[in-house]
Amino acid sequence: MVEAVERKIVPGGCFCGAVQFEIELPTLFCAHCHCSMCRRPHGAAFVTWTAVPPQQFRITAGQEHLKTFASSTLGRRQFCNVCGTQLFCWHEHEDATDPDMIDITLASLHQPIDRAPDMHVFYDSKAAWSVVEDDLPKLGGPTGTEPLANS
Ligand SMILES: [Zn+2]
Ligand SMILES: [Zn+2]
Repeated sequence: MVEAVERKIVPGGCFCGAVQFEIELPTLFCAHCHCSMCRRPHGAAFVTWTAVPPQQFRITAGQEHLKTFASSTLGRRQFCNVCGTQLFCWHEHEDATDPDMIDITLASLHQPIDRAPDMHVFYDSKAAWSVVEDDLPKLGGPTGTEPLANS
């Protein structure tokens, strides 16, 4: 007898509902990102992301409403072209054509995931007016995920 593998699916969507998607747990991480490429398009102090491998991600409605913007050579951001909700960032290795990870804005998921935000990344790019008072690790440097001397 074959045991059924329990699949935990978490649905999500943009603010207007035109774009719908789902991810399958487990996620790869959950982090607050303070980099300017997140802050500026989101119009926010920082952006909370989780991520899954592409095979754990599926668009269920509104693919035609996804607009793509290449924010760097390594990342393509996608947002709803109706309501402007920033939804995804696809990461790619320089030497590969297929992305190996997709970031998903935690705020666009409709149900809890398998972890809470557990770190700040690109913390040295933090907006001066943003106040962070939690005890989570605060990482930065060129990769955004290295220990910082004074935090
Ligand atoms: Zn929308
Ligand atoms: Zn960022």
